[in-house]
Amino acid sequence: MARHRVLLVEDEEDIQELVRYNLGRDGYAVEAVTSGEAALASARQAPPDLILLDIMLPGIDGLEVCRLLKANPKTNPVPILMLTARGEEVDIVTGLEVGADDYLPKPFSPKVLTARVRAVLRRATAAVADAQTTIRLHDLVIDPGRHEVTVGGAAVDLTFTEFRILHLLARRPGWVFTRAQVIEEVRGEEYPVTDRSVDVHMVALRRKLGENGKYVETVRGVGYRFRD
Ligand code: CA
Repeated sequence: MARHRVLLVEDEEDIQELVRYNLGRDGYAVEAVTSGEAALASARQAPPDLILLDIMLPGIDGLEVCRLLKANPKTNPVPILMLTARGEEVDIVTGLEVGADDYLPKPFSPKVLTARVRAVLRRATAAVADAQTTIRLHDLVIDPGRHEVTVGGAAVDLTFTEFRILHLLARRPGWVFTRAQVIEEVRGEEYPVTDRSVDVHMVALRRKLGENGKYVETVRGVGYRFRD
């Protein structure tokens, strides 16, 4: 199998070294650049398999780089893992909304780094369940055609909105969806969905799923995900 090519965009030397060394040792071909401008040039010339993108960069920042990469059909499919610092929760939310696939808070251990890189690459290649596919996760069966959810064979009585939220999250296990993305999914129902009411739906959803409710996770300051 060809080696995965990883483009690292990071201006901090120690982190650049850590990533280069550990991913290199695991067999990835790592190209490192220190600015957003250089990242765009490289990715447009030869799209890599994955981009590790620091947010705080000299010149154009990581969020703008992410936006530009996702707006270009040639670089749009490349998964982006943001490297974030403490206190950048707002940037994480923005990054996910402009198309980043996941984020990795600094500082991170080599073990966490390689696990996350592997997970993002795996998710990028695994087909995302389409809107009509029945999803089976843990003891849960989600049947979008019949709008039906069962746990261990027993039907769970969900509202329309709860079903939509669960279906959105479960279609991409492990992915973090921001509040705005969840609202976007359920918008157009009989009443407007506010930030606050999303939380209420989540609480109800978890309760109705019983033991399986623990898989519907709140990611503090960012959003929600269905645990992988
Ligand atoms: Ca930086």
